[in-house]
Amino acid sequence: MSAKVLFSNMAYAAYDANETLPCKLGRQLAASGLGDKVKDKTVAIKIHVGSEVGYSTIPPVFMRILAQFVKDHGGNCFFTDHYVAARRPEHRGYTQESLGAPVLEASGYLGKYIYTKEVDFKTFKHVDIAGLIHDADFFIDFAHVKGHGCCAYGGAVKNISMGCVSDRTRREQHSLEGGLKWDSSKCTHCEACIGACNHKANTFNDKGDYEVNFHNCTLCQHCLKVCPAGAITLTDSSYLDFQQGLALCTKTVLDTFEPGNRFFINLLINITAMCDCWGMTTPSLVPDIGLMSSWDLMAIEKASLDQIKWEKLINEGVPEGITLGGKGHLFERLHGKDPYAQLTFLEKYGFGRGDYELEMIK
Ligand code: SF4
Ligand code: SF4
Repeated sequence: MSAKVLFSNMAYAAYDANETLPCKLGRQLAASGLGDKVKDKTVAIKIHVGSEVGYSTIPPVFMRILAQFVKDHGGNCFFTDHYVAARRPEHRGYTQESLGAPVLEASGYLGKYIYTKEVDFKTFKHVDIAGLIHDADFFIDFAHVKGHGCCAYGGAVKNISMGCVSDRTRREQHSLEGGLKWDSSKCTHCEACIGACNHKANTFNDKGDYEVNFHNCTLCQHCLKVCPAGAITLTDSSYLDFQQGLALCTKTVLDTFEPGNRFFINLLINITAMCDCWGMTTPSLVPDIGLMSSWDLMAIEKASLDQIKWEKLINEGVPEGITLGGKGHLFERLHGKDPYAQLTFLEKYGFGRGDYELEMIK
């Protein structure tokens, strides 16, 4: 059976605030049934607070409408993320006064308020769930949709798996990244591999060791192919392990809530190449698309990805000198990784098939 995804696009029929996305959010929330579910509950709303000079995280007006809706329906809500104090959310307008609810450190001020669940996937062993999120009665995942260097796509899953956990859990998930191996005994330091990389993803560190930044690496294998010494080879692990880690972490966090006590909202505007954690905003890859909400994680993620079409590419969204790959989703052409892989692993962990039906909310 298909899951319902409420969708409001950017189209407007008149110069009227009611025709714009914030007001459409209000109508989506009213149509979703969320109001009946949050009464007398403590509601954790997971956002990304952004950092530095980034300006593409969720605009405060959307958050204020959501907080007011929850309060109007008898819920007690707060916004939350990790590294809140250090990333100065007030610089992006995220204050209790502007949002109507506090912005709280998910794992406490020292980052130590966590609940640990053990998992067993290669080097990924611990999901330390942020205490405030774990303790909430109800969870709203409010994600800004964009690209991501390590997993191609950053949406609802990434907002949970990287944002609702401790530093240790983020490190263990990142330890799953990979795809390239360097053999120091074969390397002659000719640096042909550095010259062959169009993505500035590889470097030699101070000790002379070859390092790859898998955020930037598209696994194009140019470095491997130009190496005259055969010093760079592919590994057994790949970006797919990282994708599986994200799915496993997401499942573990969401398992602390009843299925009826978790709701997902994806904002599809300012869709940039990289994640908001970079502390910057580059030009959009495609025109703004709109807003989606659903009770079904798989469905909203699949629907969001399906709306981001490479045929709509705005060239300025891609860094100069980068050539896109020739097949697959726009994010795959840009990052060399299949963004739908996250969904394959979500299905493996019991989140269904992602079949969805869009219901337009104007
Ligand atoms: S695989 Fe491609 S993107 Fe990655 S380090 Fe090598 S040349 Fe650079
Ligand atoms: S191309 Fe091969 S031999 Fe040359 S620096 Fe890179 S890894 Fe070393």
